[in-house]
Amino acid sequence: MEWIDFKLELHGDPEGVDKPLIQSWWNGHGFVGHCPVCHGLIRFTTLGMSAIDEDESQTLPQLPSHWADLAQIA
Ligand SMILES: [Zn+2]
Repeated sequence: MEWIDFKLELHGDPEGVDKPLIQSWWNGHGFVGHCPVCHGLIRFTTLGMSAIDEDESQTLPQLPSHWADLAQIA
């Protein structure tokens, strides 16, 4: 995954999804979701993607489980 447009607005939940995730993205903390390929937990930030463990991921906003179905991934 080199480039992702998360298309967060397509989740239809501005208060629950768009706002908290975008805010966390821009303040540098990023957000967490499962990799659509290997299902591992990934943290997405402005600096890129990195693996993250379950405990650490609890402190961050979470992508909806079906995020990869709505996102554009290249
Ligand atoms: Zn993966």
